[in-house]
Parts: sequence; structure tokens; C-alpha cells
Amino acid sequence: MKNKIKYTNQRVEILDFLKHKTNHPTVEGIYKGVKKKLPRISKATVYQNLKFLSENGFIKEVNIKGISRFEPNLKPHHHIICKKCGKIIDFESKQLTNFSLEHIKKIKGFNIDGVETNFYGVCKNCKGGK
Ligand SMILES: [Zn+2]
Ligand SMILES: [Zn+2]
Repeated sequence: MKNKIKYTNQRVEILDFLKHKTNHPTVEGIYKGVKKKLPRISKATVYQNLKFLSENGFIKEVNIKGISRFEPNLKPHHHIICKKCGKIIDFESKQLTNFSLEHIKKIKGFNIDGVETNFYGVCKNCKGGK
């Protein structure tokens, strides 16, 4: 029981850390943040908790360029990614989602219920900072 409480507490801290994050932190980033409050937590534990939380729909895992990132935004959305600094911006567009899903319906034998599109470009900061 003691273990269970501790485990839950870790999840609470992770959720709390992610709550207002819009920058899609990696496991490493979350680990560093959560460590401030739970100094004895290991990166593997953080990773396990993140997996649990995303599998149970508390947070969302996104894979961008082969790197797992996590975010609290559960609404269907797309991403705009800066090629220079790696900044990721959420982009909500029902039209785009519906259009893509409508389009993919033609593929038979596959139940598709979600879509995420990544757009690549250069953000305002990187463009201006030349
Ligand atoms: Zn940038
Ligand atoms: Zn996002």
C-alpha cells in the first residue's frame, strides 16, 4: 500500500508538471522538472509513469522526428514545428482533421480514428534573429 501511494504521487507530480506545458517536453525534460519535487525519482520511473498516463488518456504522447514528447492537450490537433529551434506549436483545425479522415476512409480494412499532421517551417524568432 505504501508503494502504491508513492507511485500515485509520482503520477500526480508528473501531471502537475505537464499541466500548463505547451512546449511538448521530452522524457528528459519532464524528468528534470519532476526531480525538483521528487529528488529520488529515476528517469525510468518517469518514463513508465508517462507511458501509463498516456495509455490511460491523461496526457498525450507525440512522436516528432523519432523523439517521444508528452503534452496535456488532449484535443485533436496538429503541430507546427520550427526546423531551426525545434519549437512545436499546437494547431487546432477541425477542417484539416475532417478532411484527412474523410480522405483516408478510402483505405479499406483499417479503422482510422485520428490524425496528426506535422508542418515544418521557421518560427518568427528564428526568422527575425538572423
Ligand atoms: Zn525557431
Ligand atoms: Zn501538441
